[in-house]
Amino acid sequence: MRFSKSLIEKGFNDLTMLGTVLIRLYKAELPIIKKAQVTLITDPKKIEESYDFALSIYNKRDERARTIHDEDVDMYYGCVLCQSFAPTHACCITPDRTSLCGSINWFDARAAAKVDPKGPLYEVPMGECLNELAGEFTGVNEMIKKRSLGDIDRIYLYSGMEFPHTSCGCFEAIDFFIPETGVGHGIIDRSHDGVAINGLPFSAMANQTGGGKQMPGFNGISFQYVGSPKYQLYDGIQAGLDSGIYTIVWMGKNAKDRVVEFLPPDLVDKIATEEEVS
Ligand code: SF4
Repeated sequence: MRFSKSLIEKGFNDLTMLGTVLIRLYKAELPIIKKAQVTLITDPKKIEESYDFALSIYNKRDERARTIHDEDVDMYYGCVLCQSFAPTHACCITPDRTSLCGSINWFDARAAAKVDPKGPLYEVPMGECLNELAGEFTGVNEMIKKRSLGDIDRIYLYSGMEFPHTSCGCFEAIDFFIPETGVGHGIIDRSHDGVAINGLPFSAMANQTGGGKQMPGFNGISFQYVGSPKYQLYDGIQAGLDSGIYTIVWMGKNAKDRVVEFLPPDLVDKIATEEEVS
């Protein structure tokens, strides 16, 4: 945690203020919360315990989310929390497409929309399926048209190349097309140090990808989406492959470590990282 000098100059001289702000934020976002307490832990050993505990909860949550798929539900969800800095962005959260930030899966979105129906998370009736392989639905198109104020009117949920999902800025990773390969994609995550196989660092690609844009060839994604059978399915089939996962030819080492358990065993060694090529 870092505090700027200007913050201190402006009177932030007591950590109680931070706790008060966090409590007010949580209460404003989730009115169901009546009381809250903030405890700041600075002992690295104690943080390890809490970190492992939090990770085990997240892992259980993610495992549960992987048990259902888009065709098993009759409602998707949307989120516009990131519109404060990406005005034309709205996440469409489906069982196969966890939010770009990775923090809201379909179960979380459903719960949030029920708890606060007028909040930033809301129901998205999927409507008619226009293209099963691409994941194009009339309801999702209507949602993005309304939420982007008419800027974007069509989304393929399972493509990074044609009408891709908009990207905000807090995506966990970027799926990017590598033109020299003809069909190959790369994945870089925000912890990547250095440049990707296309010569660009995460920050440069994030500028190109985010801000609410729909940018074919650059797509903000969550790690969970990589583990879904719908991952860039349309792009894979268009390229003559069995599924979208086979489009991946390069990954940052950190990103690969995060998703290696989701990759088909025959693909693991075929995906290069910065340790093999640069
Ligand atoms: S990236 Fe996360 S916080 Fe931002 S709009 Fe999507 S779900 Fe909401």
